[in-house]
Amino acid sequence: MRILVTNDDGVRSPGLEALVEVALEFGEVKFAAPDRERSACGHAMTLNDPLRTKDVIIHGVEGCEVSGVPVDCVNVGLTVLWPEGCDLVLSGINNGPNLGFDITYSGTVAGAMEACINKIPALAFSMGVLNHKDPVHFETAQQWIRENLKYLLALELPPRTFLNINIPNLPLPVELQTRVVPMGQRVYEDRVELRHDPWGRPYYWQGGNVIIDRSDTGTDLEAIRQGFVSVTPITLDWTNHEAIPLLANQLGSKQTSS
Ligand code: MN
Repeated sequence: MRILVTNDDGVRSPGLEALVEVALEFGEVKFAAPDRERSACGHAMTLNDPLRTKDVIIHGVEGCEVSGVPVDCVNVGLTVLWPEGCDLVLSGINNGPNLGFDITYSGTVAGAMEACINKIPALAFSMGVLNHKDPVHFETAQQWIRENLKYLLALELPPRTFLNINIPNLPLPVELQTRVVPMGQRVYEDRVELRHDPWGRPYYWQGGNVIIDRSDTGTDLEAIRQGFVSVTPITLDWTNHEAIPLLANQLGSKQTSS
């Protein structure tokens, strides 16, 4: 099996190394990752700058760093590293969670999404780090991938679907249990914080505190909060199919009667 690994934390991140290492147990691996951290770039793509690459070796695996974002890396990886075709794209392991609406910002998820657009099975992995001061236990994600990847690959997922997976940030040894859950709602307060520079000029820092909504049950957020691995199937089709008859009734009838 030919595997392409990517991420959004950059080519030097320990999460990429951990994913390359565990992927090697399943097939032939190559990687293409951003030359620096590009978290929260979403599904961006570089159009107005050249993409420069540099060969890099991790765990004896040949790959490259790319002067771009995860989408660029996947496209370079599929074109340059695996011109003969690729069977699986793994993105991560992200140094933090990608839960609820956060997946719309996530470069990690975008890497998997780009593979899915190219009709290649794809999985995005993120560590459910709830306190950013905690050490990150990538080895726990490695163990879960080791135990579960073959089952995930045997799944017959609907077309245009990839998986967003978050692993609780617990140290080994741990017996991990998995929940298949929909994405929840991750809401922030104080999203833009006002600060002042040494000259008293205002500036803003974006981030904010997460409001943990305890009523958001049965979701990826709850699964991670309770120490489970969350697996969420994501579809490329963003259409709200329920809204189509409603809109068609309103707009469609208006158009025909005018
Ligand atoms: Mn990241």
